[in-house]
Amino acid sequence: RPAARSAEGSIHRVLSHGLPSNAFIPNNPKSTKAGLLALSPFQRDFAIKDNIATTPFLTTCASRTLQWYQSPFEAGVVQELRQRGGSVAGKTNLDEFGMGSHSTNSFFGPVTNEPPFQGISVGGSSGGSAIAVATEQCGMALGTDTGGSVRLPAAYTGVTGFKPSYGYISRWGVIPYANSLDTVGIVASSTLLIESAFQCSSHPDSRDPTSLTEDTRRRIKVSLRRSKRRERERRLALGELGDPIIEEANSLVNLRVGVPMEYNIEELEPSVKRVWRSALEILQDKGATLVPISLPNTKHALSAYYVLAPAEAASNLSKYDGVRYGTRADGKDGAGGLLYSVTRGHGFGEEVKRRILLGSYTLSSEARDNYFLKAQKVRRLVQQDFDRVFAAENPLRPTQQFDLSNMDESIPMQDKLGPPQVDVIVCPTAPTIAPDLEDVSNQTPVDNYMNDVFTVPASLAGLPAISVPFTVPRGFRKLDHPNYAGIQIIGQFGDDLRVIDVAKRLE
Ligand code: GLN
Repeated sequence: RPAARSAEGSIHRVLSHGLPSNAFIPNNPKSTKAGLLALSPFQRDFAIKDNIATTPFLTTCASRTLQWYQSPFEAGVVQELRQRGGSVAGKTNLDEFGMGSHSTNSFFGPVTNEPPFQGISVGGSSGGSAIAVATEQCGMALGTDTGGSVRLPAAYTGVTGFKPSYGYISRWGVIPYANSLDTVGIVASSTLLIESAFQCSSHPDSRDPTSLTEDTRRRIKVSLRRSKRRERERRLALGELGDPIIEEANSLVNLRVGVPMEYNIEELEPSVKRVWRSALEILQDKGATLVPISLPNTKHALSAYYVLAPAEAASNLSKYDGVRYGTRADGKDGAGGLLYSVTRGHGFGEEVKRRILLGSYTLSSEARDNYFLKAQKVRRLVQQDFDRVFAAENPLRPTQQFDLSNMDESIPMQDKLGPPQVDVIVCPTAPTIAPDLEDVSNQTPVDNYMNDVFTVPASLAGLPAISVPFTVPRGFRKLDHPNYAGIQIIGQFGDDLRVIDVAKRLE
């Protein structure tokens, strides 16, 4: 557990409302509706990333353009948690609109901290949420994860961060960055807390068109159960299955863990590699079988992400024009068409403008085919890589039955041939431990994007992924540094509870 007690700038909404930083809204356990799963007492005060709408607080996205924005309604996920006895401890600082990896691109200033986090990146964009949990200012926090924004800060600050399968937690009232990738994620000090928070917040919400319906959730469960049964029979036939009677309770004898070779990149810090090895050893000691796997398109995932996310962002952010949304720049009444450009020029920070320009370019008729459409194809290849290695079939893209009467059309949607099949994938969350903020400020934007290299593949495929914290072993530690590294567990779509379960075994 980190020693730091306070995190200046992390719960900025509480501070900027002039309340003392410990002025949390008191718990009201009576607000728990009968029959609903309740949050544990540790989770009742939860902090919320400031791009998730709340009614007693402003919702600013850490942007000048929304600095006075008061949502008329509260996000679906916040309503769910309130109904289960939770209360909002405060809103947390972030990279403007979720764009960044170090929580330094905020209108309110970067998240800064006391030792051991002083001068060290807390990761981004949900850095405020992660450090608020790490420094025990709240029991749990909500963040958003579009390309790693919950997992990366969790890895850097030594807490657990979970990104559920796309569509499981309602995004109604979550201000969009890149809709096809955005998810609400949870940060907590243990996997057990993540599990109960996920169960409390993962429900269909008809107000969010991407929220999975009850019926789809049921079908996904059935499909995963069927896949698991089929896989069990296959392994039994091959004599690969441990005898369930001889198995000790809690052993992982029947778990196959994929170790993706492409994640062993040159830039991987020796300390992180060491932690990765330790994590795999823990799983192996508990009986799991380690299987080397290949996800060949991983190397293209980052470039695809940085085409797709800015493209969606450029489209989403066009509404902040000072007329429909956003703070209008002073003294401009629209004459001469200046209103939009002055308002937007003034309202957005540098990184947001860079993404809008990038996205507008890749969507332009000149560049669309070469960038946007190619990136969509890469996204599909990344998804197929995962589907190929997971034993469980992707419930959203089931393998087609072979149809003898129509052989030409009977192309399997999932290539289940090839490498051995696994239940989960275990890899680092980021290639390095948290960098010094000074080094970050000297980096180019592209260097900055590199931090997301291990988190974006699961985002592109919509898969559940969790970052479990480890402390770097002696001999690998950096002086005056918190020395945390995150290990990521990725599962098949809808297999969130298995991902969480494997994470528990690593704690
Ligand atoms: N760092 C990534 C980006 O800037 C991820 C952000 C996120 O997940 N919100 O786009």
